[in-house]
Amino acid sequence: MHHAPDGRPPALTQLSEEERLFRDTVRRFALDRIRPHVREMDEQSKFHPALLGELFALGLMGIEIPEQYGGQGGSFFQAVLAVEALSSVDPSAGVIVDVQNTIVNNAILRWGSEDQKQRYLPRLAADTVGAYALSEPGSGSDAFSLSTRAQDCGGHFSLTGQKLWITNAAEAGLFVLFANARPEDGYRGITCFLVERDSPGFRVGKKEDKLGIRASSTCELILDGACVPRHNVLGEVGKGYKVAIETLNEGRIAIGAQMVGLASGALGHALAYARQRKQFGKTISEFQGVQFDLARMATDIEAARLLVYNAARLKDAGAPFLAEAAMAKYFASLVAERAASQAVEIHGGVGFTKDYPVEKLYRDAKIGSIYEGTTNIQLTTIARQLLEK
Ligand SMILES: Cc1cc2nc3c(=O)[nH]c(=O)nc-3n(C[C@H](O)[C@H](O)[C@H](O)COP(=O)(O)OP(=O)(O)OC[C@H]3O[C@@H](n4cnc5c(N)ncnc54)[C@H](O)[C@@H]3O)c2cc1C
Repeated sequence: MHHAPDGRPPALTQLSEEERLFRDTVRRFALDRIRPHVREMDEQSKFHPALLGELFALGLMGIEIPEQYGGQGGSFFQAVLAVEALSSVDPSAGVIVDVQNTIVNNAILRWGSEDQKQRYLPRLAADTVGAYALSEPGSGSDAFSLSTRAQDCGGHFSLTGQKLWITNAAEAGLFVLFANARPEDGYRGITCFLVERDSPGFRVGKKEDKLGIRASSTCELILDGACVPRHNVLGEVGKGYKVAIETLNEGRIAIGAQMVGLASGALGHALAYARQRKQFGKTISEFQGVQFDLARMATDIEAARLLVYNAARLKDAGAPFLAEAAMAKYFASLVAERAASQAVEIHGGVGFTKDYPVEKLYRDAKIGSIYEGTTNIQLTTIARQLLEK
């Protein structure tokens, strides 16, 4: 970060040289390598395995993992920049990188023992996709009412239950998974486990057929007496609720970044189309009505980006960021939906077809107000902070 000579902090959108180079590299990769496959991956509901390999090779699956474990030793803010840049081209690519970095890797960095870090971080940086399994059929917003049980068998735990909606599950080799080891203690029994895909009694079930972010896999998990060694408890038994809350608080900033990226992608398409489409003998960008739409979109996006960047910078600075993160995610998801919808309208009829990329962004935008806490849950967090002061 460049501080002004008199020590004033820089503007939020002012990037350090390293951040700018990093963002530009991710942007280039997204445009050159991902863009040609976006439509096909959406239709086939599958992220190209070769592209996943390239995400690892570029270091984008281990951005904050320290170099000693094979990662990039970068910042949370860089992870946010990567998610934003990828999502402007494909929000599915954005969420794959988001879950890996801002939830899975961060949970292990923050709560893992040295042994767990040594066993898992190098793999997560090199070739192993991670997933985060909290939600269940009966517990979504009310996450702590989860009913997956963990029975203490001495050297290992035996996990039984079902998880639902798990991003990255089709590709993942490692699952950060929550189960209750002491149901009589309520949420104070929730425990976080590192579950390997080939654990006996564990399997990945049905894959969802979704409205948007179709190239990002979302699956159920089935645990039928899944055997997890005691040394794979992440943090302490009964402290899983803390792991869950804190990782999601951070993770939602990056969902905000995914939505900002999506919205700026939609604006880019709208601008390009408005400059070349002619009606009434003029390009439609010459009509003030269209110009005002574009100007409103750009203003919305700038405001959402400032919220996201501020929350991310606060997190990197070790300052409190709870309400700011919730505001960023709430507002950015609203802006993404609005911008994608407007981009479809600016395209007229062709915007409603699969020949142009905006209909997909419109479908992709809806997830922003649902996962990592619905809009109502973000508003609850913000209101609680207001009323506690
Ligand atoms: C594509 C996708 C990917 C996902 N990825 C993951 C993942 O990787 N890991 C994971 O663990 N989960 C994941 N989820 C689950 C996601 O986090 C939940 O769907 C979300 O938290 C909402 O839970 P629910 O679906 O049970 O809805 P519900 O909690 O049943 O909510 C239904 C409606 O009721 C409202 N509501 C609920 N409680 C309140 C309240 N107290 N006050 C006001 N309104 C309320 C909600 O806002 C919502 O509008 C994913 C979901 C999807 C769709």
